[in-house]
Amino acid sequence: MEVTLLGTGDTTGTPTVGCDCAVCQRARNPDEPLVDQLDERGVTVGPRGVERTRFSIHVRNERTDETLLIDASPDFRTQFLREDLEPPDAALITHVHFDHLDGLGNVYRLCRELPVYASGAVDPEMGHSVAEHVRDRYDYLDPLDVQARQPFESFSICGFTVRLVPVDHPPLDTYGVVIEDPQTGGQLSITGDTRYRIPADSKDALADPDLLVADGILPADRCDSHPAGGADYDENGVPMTYGTKHMTIEGAKSLADELDATETRIVHLSHYLPAETAFDRPLGVDGERFSL
Ligand SMILES: [Zn+2]
Ligand SMILES: [Zn+2]
Ligand SMILES: [Zn+2]
Repeated sequence: MEVTLLGTGDTTGTPTVGCDCAVCQRARNPDEPLVDQLDERGVTVGPRGVERTRFSIHVRNERTDETLLIDASPDFRTQFLREDLEPPDAALITHVHFDHLDGLGNVYRLCRELPVYASGAVDPEMGHSVAEHVRDRYDYLDPLDVQARQPFESFSICGFTVRLVPVDHPPLDTYGVVIEDPQTGGQLSITGDTRYRIPADSKDALADPDLLVADGILPADRCDSHPAGGADYDENGVPMTYGTKHMTIEGAKSLADELDATETRIVHLSHYLPAETAFDRPLGVDGERFSL
């Protein structure tokens, strides 16, 4: 399983339009190119940029060359050109927010057919499922074949075994994703957009990944900037959740420990980070590539 982080930023991305904070300045003018590295497990970490476009992950089956897109970023075109990728063979949508769904229109004239997987569970807030929402929203796009799947149901895409697991991103239903390669035993776990407090059976499904891609929007000490402050405090009084919708970076690291992740990248990052360490691991940057 080859995993490429296409988009590691929050809904505004980094650099953010109209912002000249130190992080956005570093993202516009990287002072040093970051290079390929191999970690101790032999996980290949591809060239690191210093940009964070909106969320998306690309998963390729090296044996069949089939590719699965996790979420359709509004930056789809930029990401596919940047990584020199062919259009995907399948897509999966975790939830209906702009930064995860609105790129789907990019497949117009690119894909002859595209199965799009999403939860078929009815969201009480929307009155319909994520799958129905995607189907209605893109009913003009003939190539799309929206396939509803139930939470925790195992299904096969591109030779991988995939499960959607409920997380907590109020008020809308949102899902994490577990992707396993039955040939290599490799496992990618993606928390999706979520606060720290997620259901125990979802944690069980996400546990023991080779790579965890975890939501973590900003450091805990920035919770003052949210009208709702922080939530899900640990024993030292550190908020694991920023506001109500996303984990803090501390929360993402704590969850990674709890899930016993071999490798972790924190994504969905805002530009409100300390500039000196804004692009340091385990914070993800666009273009990182892993072999599981
Ligand atoms: Zn900024
Ligand atoms: Zn969201
Ligand atoms: Zn998001």
